[in-house]
Amino acid sequence: MTALVLLPCAVALERRCDWTPGAACLLLLLIPVCVASLADSPWGLLLTTLVGTSSILHEGFLDWPANGEFLEAPAFPFVASGLLVIIGPLLRQLVYLKHDITAISPVPDLARHSEIPIFEVVERQAPDTSSTESQASGAAITELLVQSELESPPELATPLQLQESIESEDPQLLLTLQEVGWRVATDFDLATLYQTVRHTTQRILRCQRCSVLLWNSQDSTLVDALHNSEVSEAPIAYPNRGMLGWVAKNRNLLVRSDVENDPALKYLQRRDECHIEAVVPLTAGGELLGLLTLEGVNASTPQFRRMLQLLANVSALAIKNARLFQRIAEMARRDGLTGLLNHASFQERLRELVDAAQCKQLPLTVIMSDVDRFKSINDTYGHPVGDHVLREVGRIWRTVVPEYALSARYGGEEFICAIPGMGLERASDLAEALRHTIETLPLSFERGVISVTASFGVAQLGLPARNATELVRLVDEALYQSKRGGRNCVTLVPATRQATNQEQVPV
Ligand code: GH3
Ligand code: MG
Ligand code: MG
Repeated sequence: MTALVLLPCAVALERRCDWTPGAACLLLLLIPVCVASLADSPWGLLLTTLVGTSSILHEGFLDWPANGEFLEAPAFPFVASGLLVIIGPLLRQLVYLKHDITAISPVPDLARHSEIPIFEVVERQAPDTSSTESQASGAAITELLVQSELESPPELATPLQLQESIESEDPQLLLTLQEVGWRVATDFDLATLYQTVRHTTQRILRCQRCSVLLWNSQDSTLVDALHNSEVSEAPIAYPNRGMLGWVAKNRNLLVRSDVENDPALKYLQRRDECHIEAVVPLTAGGELLGLLTLEGVNASTPQFRRMLQLLANVSALAIKNARLFQRIAEMARRDGLTGLLNHASFQERLRELVDAAQCKQLPLTVIMSDVDRFKSINDTYGHPVGDHVLREVGRIWRTVVPEYALSARYGGEEFICAIPGMGLERASDLAEALRHTIETLPLSFERGVISVTASFGVAQLGLPARNATELVRLVDEALYQSKRGGRNCVTLVPATRQATNQEQVPV
């Protein structure tokens, strides 16, 4: 439409201002062409094509100059604009073809799901429809049902069918499901989440026993997520055979009656699995996270499979989220270069260790070190080599310092560790071992080998260090005493002496 209005304006402007023929047309029609090319209406496409074609036909063929000087003929602006008007929509169609779409839609795909009236049903079933909590849970269950549709194999019920069947059979079930969604979606602690999954499955499907088995893709084994390590070893199932093996491989729900009634599945019967009534895979985003096994349950009801599949989908999603959350939290705690704890998390954990040591009256010792003349390594060989040295020093710390100690990269080339239960004497031996290993281990890189040394300070909690801050300040002072004493040595701060009475261990 804009093109229709602007076309005569452009011609009038050209004639009045005596511009080069076609200039105003090109200028004024550029805007509607752009708009037309992005618009998504078939009418827009039809109109713009009509205008363009008629301009060409009428002006181009009827008034085309016989002498060939078409640039000066009045027909040119019409032909030029007509071509432009057609090119726009053609361009748009080309873009659609390239991206394999039929139209540019402002509505995201997922919005389609919100049209399913599950939310309304949940609201009617909820005890308090006015509360915001109930609304939030309603939204959560809608999301979970939608997710269930996305995760379920094609033969399973759609969310709408599922909701209908639940509604007709047990209204209480919907409320319970609402609660499950709420609980598993808000739990980020994996240990509690596994408990929640087990308890809710037991309660909803009324089974006597439920196990959450975690899949280890490296050695293809299953480990009970909720085993009590104090009572027994984690039972490991080898799922290459039996029902567990079949579900792990095929990633489909399997019920005992299937195995008993289907001759093709009879081979799956195993004595050690005879108590398992149903197994369902826990998959999220195509990844197998584990299996849910149910014992002592009536698996013959029509809604059992759908409920179990739904529970498995919700649980798998929650487990995947919780794992992701844990990974991100762990990454935030660690130094990216060395993999040791970073400064902030070391400080936080040190305070806890100090409290525990004071409470239990146990020794706590801190070792701090700083790489000697590290700046000159950077200056001579470059920062990448400097980084390599830091990674290697970090590796030495991880190897030499006991695993139960708290090791961290404290700053640029400063490393620290806190060792609970270790006195000053043993800690000074450990610092000496670290110093010796760093000094003697040649650090190779592509241009050769470099030797590095580091200076150390060691301090024990007690007088004069009564808290984490004082302990770090003291060990830092001891470290700089080592620097002043010529570097590549260890300086101790005994707990019973004053900060000034420091003793140095010569090397
Ligand atoms: P001293 O023996 O007295 O400790 O001397 P130094 O050269 O080790 O000490 P200084 O504090 O002067 O230099 C520390 C250097 O560490 C400066 C800084 O550029 C470098 N640095 C800090 N963090 C990093 C890092 O992540 N990578 C690299 N390559 N260098 C770092
Ligand atoms: Mg240094
Ligand atoms: Mg330093």
